[in-house]
Amino acid sequence: MQADVIVIGAGIVGAACAHALAQAGQQVLVLDAGVGGATGAGMGHLVVMDDNPAELALSRHSLALWRSLVPRMADDCAFSPCGTLWVAADDAEMVAAEEKQQRLGQHGIDCRLLSANQLATAEPALRPGLAGALEVTGDGIVYAPNAARWLLGDGGSNIHIEAAEVVAIEAGHVRLADGTQRRAPQILLANGIHATALCPELPIRPKKGHLLITDRYPGTVHHQLVELGYITSAHHAEGPSVAFNLQPRPTGQLLIGSSRQFDTTDMAVEAPMVAQMLQRALRYIPALGDLNAIRSWTGLRAATPDSLPLLGRHPWREGLWLAVGHEGLGVTTATGTAQLLAELMTGAAPAFDPTPYAAERFTATATA
Ligand SMILES: Cc1cc2nc3c(=O)[nH]c(=O)nc-3n(C[C@H](O)[C@H](O)[C@H](O)COP(=O)(O)OP(=O)(O)OC[C@H]3O[C@@H](n4cnc5c(N)ncnc54)[C@H](O)[C@@H]3O)c2cc1C
Repeated sequence: MQADVIVIGAGIVGAACAHALAQAGQQVLVLDAGVGGATGAGMGHLVVMDDNPAELALSRHSLALWRSLVPRMADDCAFSPCGTLWVAADDAEMVAAEEKQQRLGQHGIDCRLLSANQLATAEPALRPGLAGALEVTGDGIVYAPNAARWLLGDGGSNIHIEAAEVVAIEAGHVRLADGTQRRAPQILLANGIHATALCPELPIRPKKGHLLITDRYPGTVHHQLVELGYITSAHHAEGPSVAFNLQPRPTGQLLIGSSRQFDTTDMAVEAPMVAQMLQRALRYIPALGDLNAIRSWTGLRAATPDSLPLLGRHPWREGLWLAVGHEGLGVTTATGTAQLLAELMTGAAPAFDPTPYAAERFTATATA
């Protein structure tokens, strides 16, 4: 096959990009080393985030694209339109909920404030005394490893997949671990936290996260629940932090997060972090203490200095494109990333402004 594009990495981002490029008529060769990554380790919450306008634009577009895929997606992608409840613990967080509602509402995102009583009715497992919540109805969840597989399959004969580790990227070709080469005029780097092994100049740091899953307790929780304090406690912290984030899986299991630690690549489950995470969760759902946990694991988020991904042309490597650095939002933003990259790589007009995601914003750092 004569590939138009080589995609390095078959996680959710690489798979979505290959899918979008295939839909645009490109012959795509996907190379994956099989070393795994964040797609298999994450939570799969599809969530509109609005820490800044660029994050909102990318996540909003991405959610719309996910919803357009849902009717065709395989059942094992386990999509659920459960929505998100941003839980406000006190009056100050309720003010934050109102501000968030205004910001999201201005962009046409369906959301509504729940009073303390409405919250208690919607999620009886939450402790009494919470101030209320913001419900974002269009959010959902997906099982990302299967969604990635489905996207690759849905690309049909335009996508070819090869199990291979790329060890170097050179103009017009990549070198594989077995010494052979694969050629294409355009190469797209989508290998998550491993990006710096091939492009050490990229400003990406690991941000470790723990998750824990319970046995099956169907009907305990109905929405993805996230504390509003998450925005300050987890997203912007430099040191280790935890925040309450709980997902009802379609299996009836409860997936509990989340923790964040910078600059460690030790994948070991750390009991003190898990304990902190669970203590935080117990403050919201006391009955969790009576449930059986069956497994805990960790994953590495690929974080950039401003938490926005690097999307678009590499600043100076000819023919190389970037779709990396998606931090804790890459399942959500895989579809918007893919749309943008496919448009840029085929010369089509981008559906939204690509400037905030361009790697050039770090060029000074990257070349230093
Ligand atoms: C604990 C945790 C919770 C999360 N929760 C959420 C969430 O709720 N919602 C959300 O949207 N996001 C979440 N994320 C983030 C999300 O999981 C990631 O942003 C996303 O999975 C990144 O996907 P990716 O395809 O870029 O990278 P990866 O999934 O890491 O895939 C990279 C792929 O590249 C391949 N590869 C690596 N090196 C090479 C090489 N040299 N040659 C060939 N192939 C190579 C690997 O085998 C792998 O398949 C979470 C992440 C973590 C860790």
